[in-house]
Amino acid sequence: MTYLAVPIAPKSVPEAQEQIKAAVAVGSELLELRTDFLVHLSVDLAWQIIDAARQYAPHLPIIVTCRDYHQGGALRHSNQLRTDVLTAAVRAGADYVDIEYGNYQSVAIRSKIFLAVTDEANIRLILSAHNFQTKFKSIRRLHNEIRYVQSGVIPKIIYSAHHINDCFDMLDLLHEFGNGMIAFCMDEPGFITRIIARKLGAFASFACINEKTATAPGQPTAAQMKNVYRWGSLNAQTELYGVIGSPVAHSLSPALHNGCFNEAGLNKLFLPLLVTGGRQEFNTFVDNILSRPWLDFRGFSVTIPHKENAIEYVKSKKGTVDPLAERIGAANTIVINGTQLSAYNTDCPAALDTITSSLGIDRAGFNKMPVAVIGAGGVARAIVAGLTDAKAKVIIYNRTVERAKKLAREFKCDYAGLDDLKKLKAQLVINCTSIGMHPHVNATPVDEKFLNKDMAVFDTVYNPAETLFLKQAKALGCKTISGLDMFINQAAAQFKLFTGQTANIETMRKTLLNAQK
Ligand code: NAP
Repeated sequence: MTYLAVPIAPKSVPEAQEQIKAAVAVGSELLELRTDFLVHLSVDLAWQIIDAARQYAPHLPIIVTCRDYHQGGALRHSNQLRTDVLTAAVRAGADYVDIEYGNYQSVAIRSKIFLAVTDEANIRLILSAHNFQTKFKSIRRLHNEIRYVQSGVIPKIIYSAHHINDCFDMLDLLHEFGNGMIAFCMDEPGFITRIIARKLGAFASFACINEKTATAPGQPTAAQMKNVYRWGSLNAQTELYGVIGSPVAHSLSPALHNGCFNEAGLNKLFLPLLVTGGRQEFNTFVDNILSRPWLDFRGFSVTIPHKENAIEYVKSKKGTVDPLAERIGAANTIVINGTQLSAYNTDCPAALDTITSSLGIDRAGFNKMPVAVIGAGGVARAIVAGLTDAKAKVIIYNRTVERAKKLAREFKCDYAGLDDLKKLKAQLVINCTSIGMHPHVNATPVDEKFLNKDMAVFDTVYNPAETLFLKQAKALGCKTISGLDMFINQAAAQFKLFTGQTANIETMRKTLLNAQK
């Protein structure tokens, strides 16, 4: 079992009591008492905090830590005091004490801790090494050194990941030695290691009570771990998926897919995969995943800026590219089946299905329909490909006119700049820009005076579900279509590709609306 450890970082005993109760309430499975945050730290205060833990969380095992300031500790307590606190913690019945491996090499410190630990049969020592700057030079050598200091120690090795590709040294270590060690990467690029740690059998991973009480960069909340990332159901067999993009921290895809995996009782997990940089970083990331079949990755959603990189990657690996994705020149879905890759684009059919079902028409209904598409980026491209295929009369309006011209030439339609929206004449108007998206909810791509009640208006922006553009169009009497429906449809199509099963659209809608609250 991998514990979900919740650290508490109190400045005083009353604060400790409150935090211990809160840690229990969020479902902590292991309590870490960070005594280094105590302003007037003393052996007596540490005892009181351990007593509080025994009183308010009698069922939880306890780690006592008094982190050195130079290894991420809160205050500059002396080595002597920190050693006294830890030896007292051993005698007070802590289950684990955590001390920095570097400090444990000092004979004075080691002899005191060693003596205390050997007197107590049930205590285990955690020897930790942190690097807040970057990766360790040789994480494997460091692990071996720590492991062989004395028998029964739990090595804890943590470093900051600058890029998601920095995570693979850590995942390799966990794969080889996961059982009984603590190992993960800090900061947003390292986020996945904190969760995959459970699949790879780590001793513990850490989560905070809430964002304010986080004790390390990139530490998720216990609620996120349990409710979004399915902590309780992860095991060695869990198959992995994720959304590759930059940024991805606010993507709703993990909540959406994990909610559906959960409901369908599937042993699958969907992660946010922050891949910064361009094609090279994307290729390196997917190479890293594919060369580690034990990670059990089975597929990716792909978003800005990697949809074109995705299709090129799959082609370079002699994978299968769906004809629609080929026509669009971009893929938002990759399915991994052993060593075989397939690329798809679910944005285009999702958008067209959303429009046809809202307007009560079929695809033939687009024939000769005058449609204004605002924007010339990735989503516009997918929608223009579908609409022109269905013989709609499309005009593309874009801020950068050159980009509109290029897209229009490729799909044989018209183009104009945003100024020309004052002459807007269309049966269907589609916003494919990010204008109006959270947090810029007071912006709209088209002045309402250029709309009229005979137009249908579709906004691909899905956060908020009803944008200002849609609100104004609705007030004029236009038929309006929300990007939320397209988002759900494209995710449902991905779910089908990932699992072979039909997604529950209502679960998806509820999950999304809850996540947007
Ligand atoms: P993209 O490739 O980066 O394209 C962005 C488009 O927005 C470009 O045409 C850009 O014009 C235009 N734009 C951005 N800021 C603007 C501004 N301030 N004023 C005028 N034009 C502006 O992005 P994308 O992948 O096409 O995504 C666009 C939006 O679609 C996203 O923000 C998202 O809300 C929505 N989307 C919805 C779904 C769904 O399922 N509902 C799926 C994906 C995306 P320039 O060419 O001049 O830069």
